Amino acid sequence: MPNLRTQVAIIGAGPAGLLLGLSLRASGVDSIIVEHSSADQVLGRVRAGVLEQSSAETLTRLGLGERMTAEGIRSDRIFLQAAGRRHHIDFGALIDRRVTLYGQQEIERDLLAAHERAGSAIYFDAEAVAVHDIEGGQPRVSFEHDGATHEITADFIVGADGIDGVCRRSIPRQEITLFDRAYPFAWLGVVAEVPPSTEGSIYALHDDGFAMLAPQSAHVSRLYLQVDPHELVANFSDARIWQELQLRLSTPGFTLVEGPILSKVITPMRALVASRLGYGHLFLIGDAGHVLPPTGAKGLNAAIGDVAILSAGLVAHFGGSDIRLAGYSDEALRRQWLMQQFAQWMTELLHRTPSSSILTAPAADFNYQSQLARIDYIGRSVHAQSSLAEQYTGLPF
Ligand SMILES: Cc1cc2nc3c(=O)[nH]c(=O)nc-3n(C[C@H](O)[C@H](O)[C@H](O)COP(=O)(O)OP(=O)(O)OC[C@H]3O[C@@H](n4cnc5c(N)ncnc54)[C@H](O)[C@@H]3O)c2cc1C
Repeated sequence: MPNLRTQVAIIGAGPAGLLLGLSLRASGVDSIIVEHSSADQVLGRVRAGVLEQSSAETLTRLGLGERMTAEGIRSDRIFLQAAGRRHHIDFGALIDRRVTLYGQQEIERDLLAAHERAGSAIYFDAEAVAVHDIEGGQPRVSFEHDGATHEITADFIVGADGIDGVCRRSIPRQEITLFDRAYPFAWLGVVAEVPPSTEGSIYALHDDGFAMLAPQSAHVSRLYLQVDPHELVANFSDARIWQELQLRLSTPGFTLVEGPILSKVITPMRALVASRLGYGHLFLIGDAGHVLPPTGAKGLNAAIGDVAILSAGLVAHFGGSDIRLAGYSDEALRRQWLMQQFAQWMTELLHRTPSSSILTAPAADFNYQSQLARIDYIGRSVHAQSSLAEQYTGLPF
């Protein structure tokens, strides 16, 4: 059985795990990454696309900014739309901050290329990944790879294994509480080979539900439709998707450019926060510790924020000081709840809540009218717009 030794064993090669590995390496801390999917599967997942200003700066600081700067879109605005009216939220003019529109799969491509150049140890296609002795002095990770059982002994294990990974579940149930919320709607997300129809993302509330257009590069756009969580992708032909998007995103004088749809996926909308992101010698980062509804565009940014805080803590630990590492969970959770409340606010602002046994049809209609009024208020109030801009581009605290 191959026995390996490292300072930090990282489970999961999503953006959180890959970025942590690079960040630690830049400060002389070694790590091994174990991922249960193949590299192609990791690169094939189309998800996030909005980087807060500080996230883009973190990536640039780690030498990952070249393609992002060349191919991503620096955007200083979003548009909020309801009742056929589109409001321009101009981050640049309001607070002089911006976001970068650059697909998560492109970030992962850049991260993997950087790991390849650095000769990092990454085990893809690992099976039966398990963590052991996280409370004791000799934490270990075991996994099957190429027909052999491997074991890594590490000073610390970091769970970057997403919402369904093994790490969060390895914390004893009595030691952790999960704050969990499922929304009664989902997103149908498509990637289309079309140039952006606007200079910033459009978030629209329509009688039929939410719709969004997010430019991703000069040639590619991501588009989303609110759908029932039980809907099947097979029920959405390209023609039906474009028809719905045209309807929900229409405003006088606006042309939504159509083109080939490259991928379609339905994602249920949920929020989850673990009560702790550290237990013994195990730490959780990114979706392993918390999941945000995508409306606020925060999940990837939260993962990058976790990496920045944990990486500094681990580097300080190996340099002889434990104060920062001991504060990781509290600091990351404080930021996480600030992001959660914003994502919840955006989600409730922009989706039509279907009537149910809890919400009667008149109450659902009342909520909708109130949402329309709130969007109207935001469109008229520079103070409301500034608050939105500050939270969307990334809190400075
Ligand atoms: C439709 C959609 C749109 C989104 N839009 C945005 C956006 O605009 N902005 C934003 O910031 N965020 C957005 N997000 C959220 C963002 O994509 C996630 O928050 C981000 O992927 C989290 O990164 P991660 O590395 O923590 O987890 P993941 O990307 O889930 O990576 C976890 C990795 O761990 C691996 N793994 C799982 N289990 C195991 C195991 N047992 N052993 C080994 N490996 C394992 C997985 O294969 C995966 O590679 C969006 C999400 C969705 C679904």
